[in-house]
Amino acid sequence: MEAKEQTKVPRTLPELEKHTEAFWTGGQCGQLMINQCSACQHYIHPPVPMCPICHSRDVTATPVSGKAEIVSYTVNHMPWIPGLEVPYVVAIVGLTEQQGLNITTEIININPDKVFIGMQVKVLFEQHEEIYLPLFEPLSAT
Ligand SMILES: [Zn+2]
Repeated sequence: MEAKEQTKVPRTLPELEKHTEAFWTGGQCGQLMINQCSACQHYIHPPVPMCPICHSRDVTATPVSGKAEIVSYTVNHMPWIPGLEVPYVVAIVGLTEQQGLNITTEIININPDKVFIGMQVKVLFEQHEEIYLPLFEPLSAT
C-alpha cells in the first residue's frame, strides 16, 4: 500500500526531548507510544520522566492500542495562521488503556458537525519531518 500524500497543514511542532521522543516519533512504526511506569504499570501522559503515582523513574515508552473516546471537543472556526483550514475539531480523547489517560488532539476525516462526546476514535499519524503527530479519526471510518 502506498503512503497517502501528506496534507501540509501549518503546525507548531513540538521539541523532541528524551522522554517525549517516543510519543512524537512512534507514528513512524504506526504506533502510539505512551510512557508507562515499569514499577506500577501506570500510563503517564503528557510524557514525563517520573511516575506521578509511585515516583519511580523506571518509565518506558510502550505501544498502546490507539483506540480512544472523545471526552470533550471544540470546533475551531478561526484561521489562526495563514493556510490553516477551518473549521477543524480540537478534542480531548481518553485512551482505552486507562481511565483519565487523555490526549489533546485533532479529530479528522469527519464533518465537524458529526462529532460528539463519547464517539469512538482511533489514532492515525500526520508526518512532519521527524515528527509524527497523533491525530484521531472515527473508529468506523475505513
Ligand atoms: Zn509507578
